Amino acid sequence: MKYLIDTTQKLIHRSSFVRDACEYHTTTLESRESTHDEAYVEKLIKHQDYSKCTQCYSSFFKG
Ligand SMILES: [Zn+2]
Repeated sequence: MKYLIDTTQKLIHRSSFVRDACEYHTTTLESRESTHDEAYVEKLIKHQDYSKCTQCYSSFFKG
C-alpha cells in the first residue's frame, strides 16, 4: 500500500483511492510526500496530528 502525505493539511491519502474530493492535486509539490512505510504513517497520526483523509479511506469500506 502506498500512502500520499499532504504535509500542509496534515492528511494521509491512500494512493490507489485518491480522488478529486481529496484535493491532493491542489497541494504544492513541496507539501507532498509519499511512502510505503505504514509505521511512519502511524507515527505521523499519533505524534504529529496527522489525519487519515476521509475521502479515500472511507472508499475502502464502501468498495
Ligand atoms: Zn484522500
